Amino acid sequence: MTRHAEVVIVGGGIVGCAAAYYLARRGLVPLLLEAREVAGQQSGRNWGFVRQQGRDPLEVPLMVESNRLWRGLAAELRADIEWVQGGNLALAATPERMALFEGWLDVARQAGLETRLLRGRDVGAVVPGLRGSWAGAMYTPSDGHAEPAKATEAFARAAVAHGATVRTACVVEALLARDGRIAGVRTAADEIGATAVICAAGAWSAPLLRTVGLHLPRRLVRATVARTTPAPPITAAGVWGPAVAFRQRRDGRLNLAAGGATDYDVTLDAFRDLGRFWPNYWKNRTLFRFHVGRPLARDLARLWPGSPGRHAFSYERDADPQPNPDKVERSLAEFLRLFPGLSGLAIERSWAGYIDVTPDAVPVLDALPRPRGLIVATGFSGHGFAMGPIAGRLVAELVADGKASLDLSGFRLARFAEGTAGAPRSVL
Ligand SMILES: Cc1cc2nc3c(=O)[nH]c(=O)nc-3n(C[C@H](O)[C@H](O)[C@H](O)COP(=O)(O)OP(=O)(O)OC[C@H]3O[C@@H](n4cnc5c(N)ncnc54)[C@H](O)[C@@H]3O)c2cc1C
Repeated sequence: MTRHAEVVIVGGGIVGCAAAYYLARRGLVPLLLEAREVAGQQSGRNWGFVRQQGRDPLEVPLMVESNRLWRGLAAELRADIEWVQGGNLALAATPERMALFEGWLDVARQAGLETRLLRGRDVGAVVPGLRGSWAGAMYTPSDGHAEPAKATEAFARAAVAHGATVRTACVVEALLARDGRIAGVRTAADEIGATAVICAAGAWSAPLLRTVGLHLPRRLVRATVARTTPAPPITAAGVWGPAVAFRQRRDGRLNLAAGGATDYDVTLDAFRDLGRFWPNYWKNRTLFRFHVGRPLARDLARLWPGSPGRHAFSYERDADPQPNPDKVERSLAEFLRLFPGLSGLAIERSWAGYIDVTPDAVPVLDALPRPRGLIVATGFSGHGFAMGPIAGRLVAELVADGKASLDLSGFRLARFAEGTAGAPRSVL
């Protein structure tokens, strides 16, 4: 080993950066290693919704606490993260969807959330001028939204201010374990010894964990975002409709997401754990669009005997997903159908990110029994921006105290191998 760090964090997304911040606040000295730049992947590319409503009941206590943290973050991190506590509104086009939302009210009540169902004029009061025919909506006023890259970078800066080190352009190629304990990490340049390692590598956590013989079942789903030119103020709420979701930024621009089909780039990984993901695939089979192309070809080329990349950890393979132009076009068309008065609106830019989805669509937050000292915080299944602050704090507690202040038993990695992971239970 050329160096030693008290705690190494792999990944400069919101989870890794929040973990670095809360560890540094506890007086530890974490070293965060990021393959490219802070907030370069999901945490800088997401829509920016910070929502408690509609979640898997397991996640709700964590999300209620995360929401509390979000409300104080700008002051705590001394940064403008464009936090807006404008509520989250999920539109229902059918009575069946309303019934699903109604079922979730029990979860809300148990968590002390003020979630309610809205109909008719009450929907219009949250989103004035909204057209369309709606059965109603589910609404949680304490939900909010924020600027993803700003929030993630704010955590990183605050972590450094409290003594953490953040090293960018540094790919961790392997985790290192010895005698049942984590020993450190290997980068292209050196080996770094560590007593504790936090794996918060998002879409790359699975191949990284494989380097110490661990298996994390996950799928990568490609999600597209479109940003419009500025519009006059529409609503402070984040709005999730069946065909388009949107939130308005402070500068008036809207982040749009098209509902409907999910883009799935077929890779060799697609054939791993097919059984675990099959029930979900089958249930949503009309919603998946399978793309067979370069990602699969690249994987097959790597398998070729003698290929230099055959056994190597590959970061680049999944680093630059492309937006789906049909979705970009459709999201604007759907948005204009809801707000025909804004017909001058145009798309300014679009991008995509790979979402790491687990079979039960809840993350892994776990201090592993073996190798001891390895903590996994990953698999946030498309809603981890909102959970970033609490995930980071809980992981810091696992390192500093050996236990977390909230119940993490449902988030163990072993649930997949044991067969105790259930089907996804979120309603959004
Ligand atoms: C388009 C899109 C929209 C979304 N919308 C929302 C939303 O509205 N609300 C919400 O709550 N969530 C949303 N999500 C999900 C959310 O963005 C993620 O769950 C969350 O950002 C995950 O954070 P993370 O830190 O685990 O991963 P990431 O942000 O992906 O960070 C992982 C980091 O690890 C680095 N890394 C990986 N491998 C290595 C390595 N070997 N060595 C060094 N560094 C490495 C990567 O470069 C990356 O920066 C969305 C995601 C996408 C893609």
